[in-house]
Amino acid sequence: MTRLDSFIRRMTAQRDILDHVCTEVAKMEGPVVELGLGNGRTFHHLRERLPGRRIVAFDRALAAHASSIPEAENLVLGEIRETASRFIGIDAALVHADIGTGYEDRDAVTSTWLPDLIARLLRVGGIAVSGTPLDHPQLQRLPPPPSVPADRYFICRRV
Ligand code: SAM
Repeated sequence: MTRLDSFIRRMTAQRDILDHVCTEVAKMEGPVVELGLGNGRTFHHLRERLPGRRIVAFDRALAAHASSIPEAENLVLGEIRETASRFIGIDAALVHADIGTGYEDRDAVTSTWLPDLIARLLRVGGIAVSGTPLDHPQLQRLPPPPSVPADRYFICRRV
């Protein structure tokens, strides 16, 4: 598989999973947390799928397309490990984390702090979606939609 094939599969999985969880998140109270705003494509998708919902987006620096920039009060810049920890207790209905790098060693470091941070940002019953694994006693793994290959993307419920 080429990197282009792999990219297309990743984007398709991301879209299918976000659509899948948004049906449930739409019925749940609580903001959405977007960890890794990047170009803002998934932020834009979530904003369309969950109209009117507060979405707080985090990144090191703003690099999003002009059409996909959150309101100033919902954009938090800096290292996610520090900035998002200030939002612990926000009782998010959904946390979407797209901060994987494709480098095993770097993603392994992220996996040492991200699952616990996500568990603390979510309300009980809330959903986490991540490109990197979320091993944590309070995050129960859910099956992905049928179109998504196993171990490509991870969905969990906060228990
Ligand atoms: N979901 C986005 C989209 O659809 O456009 C793409 C996100 S991109 C793959 C990952 C982003 O996460 C990058 O913009 C990067 O700066 C940010 N990021 C990764 N690790 C981070 C960290 N530890 N703290 C802050 N930002 C981080």
